[in-house]
Order: sequence, then C-alpha cells, then structure tokens
Amino acid sequence: MINYKDLGLVNTREMFKKAVDGGYAIPAFNFNNMEQLQAIIMAAAETKSPVILQVSKGARQYANQTLLRYMAEGAVEYAKELGWEKPQIVLHLDHGDSFETCKSCIDMGFSSVMIDGSHLPYEENVALTKKVVEYAHQFDVTVEGELGVLAGVEDEVSAEESHYTKPEEVVDFVTKTGCDSLAISIGTSHGAFKFTPEQCTLDPQSGRLVPPPLAFDVLAAIEEQLPGFPIVLHGSSSVPQDEVDTINKYGGALKAAVGIPEEQLRKASQSAVCKINIDSDSRLAMTAAVREVFANKPAEFDPRKYLGPARDNMKKLYIHKIKEVLGSDNKA
Ligand SMILES: [Zn+2]
Repeated sequence: MINYKDLGLVNTREMFKKAVDGGYAIPAFNFNNMEQLQAIIMAAAETKSPVILQVSKGARQYANQTLLRYMAEGAVEYAKELGWEKPQIVLHLDHGDSFETCKSCIDMGFSSVMIDGSHLPYEENVALTKKVVEYAHQFDVTVEGELGVLAGVEDEVSAEESHYTKPEEVVDFVTKTGCDSLAISIGTSHGAFKFTPEQCTLDPQSGRLVPPPLAFDVLAAIEEQLPGFPIVLHGSSSVPQDEVDTINKYGGALKAAVGIPEEQLRKASQSAVCKINIDSDSRLAMTAAVREVFANKPAEFDPRKYLGPARDNMKKLYIHKIKEVLGSDNKA
C-alpha cells in the first residue's frame, strides 16, 4: 500500500472547492509517455496552475502501471526543480471500469479515481460507485462518479449516442454514493471526431463545421439541484483547426475532425464545472509537430529531434488551455 501523500500528490477536494468558488476549472490532461508528462508539468509550473494527471486503463496497459506511478512521483519533484514550491498535482484514474481497477490504483498511490458506471442501470451505478467511495475515503482518496452517457470513442470507452444527465437524478446519486465530484453529459464527446458533419452547421465564411452548442440549460438545472458541487466535463478537446491543418498538410488524413469550441468551455469553466478533461488536443499537437519534422527533414532519425518539437507544441497547447480557456493560472 502506497499512500499518495508520501509521493507529494494531493487529492481534488480543496482544489475543486477553490475552483468552484473562484469560477475557473482545473485542467485534467491525460498522459502515457514522458514527453507529454514533461510538457504538462512545465506548463503547470510556469503558469502556477493546479493540474490533474490522468491515466486511463489503456494508458496503464500501454506504459506499465508501475512506471506511470513513478513518473507521477517524479513529476512532483520535477515541478519543484522548475521552481514550483508547492506543486498541486493530482494523479487520477480516468474511466475506472471496476472496483478492482480503482482499488489497485488507490493501493499504488493514486490520489483520485473515477469509477465510470454510467453505462450501467442506475441502481447498479449507485452501488458500484458507493463501494469505490467507501474504499477510497479510508485513504482520503477522492472519487469522481458519472451520470449520463457521452458519445464518441476514447481508448476502450465508446458509445454510439449520448444521453444527457438527468438533473432529477443527481441529488439522489451524490447523496447515496458519497462521491466527491460528478461527470455529466451535456453534449461533449470523446475523441477528435465529436460530431458528424450532419450534426454540424457550415460556417460559410471559414468553410468550417460548427458543432451543436453544449446544453447549458441542463448544466444550469444540475447546478440548481447541487449548488456548489464539483462538476466534471469529459471529452472537452477543441480539436484546434491549425493542428488538424498541419497534420493534413503533411500527409495526414483527418477529415472533418470537430471539437468543442473554446468559448463554450470558457463559459463552462466559470460555472460549477471545475474539471475539464482534455486528451485529443494533446494527441493532435504531438502528431502535427512530428509530421511536420518528418515532412521537412526526411533524413531525421533522432527521436529527440521530432519528440522535442512535439513536446514544445504540447506545452504551448497546455499553457493556452490553462490561461485562455480554464483560467486556472496563478491558482496554485
Ligand atoms: Zn472521458
């Protein structure tokens, strides 16, 4: 049993309370390799933003769970080296699929876990989430539950269509489970292809697809039921068109990739939404930089020469998200 506090990590409790009160949101960035982690920590340290390092089950399988845990521990020390005196870093399991997965993460030093029972019948979701909360709270680990279903594909999580969270269920769910935060579905979606062209309207000026707006009425109804309770948005990449254009220019084939417009996420950040999950945007930033190097310097074969620019591009993206979208800079 490793307690996250011994690794210098923090749970989400204080962080979320401050974010809800302060009208900003904490970035939750997924990572599965060193360059991503370096970019996240450099961006957070430079902007003094609290940050949530997210690991999916797929990332644990890809990178090895032991290695990931030590990387997160290393991230705290690295942040201090960068001059961040008291790093506010959470190590969080994204989309925990069972009690066993959550327990294994808690036992290995995670400070926060998500148990995703959103695909289950309501009562089963309640029972599973409650079981994880009871275990996690013994070690002061915070738990994110989920109500409602997001569309899209993210690692092994996928759903054909979304179902908005029902505001009339949230009080019962939070009371019965004791979860510390709640992921909701209001129209965000996993992956880089969040909407089909048919769901979008075409902006005649730019020729870009404009996705349907988020259901802010559902968010408002949930906030009314649960005043001040921390709300989480998954699938909140914006799919920056310049990164998509770079990828396509240098041989990629990402046609009709669409994300959530940043002004909508900015608006959500000012509400009880206090954690915003961003994964695809970092994948796009990394891929765009690597493709550009390969296209312009075909003789290059030193990984540092293409992963270095990829890291720089991800860092730029993370800083942009922190300062221009979530407003979490200078909060840690
Ligand atoms: Zn998710």
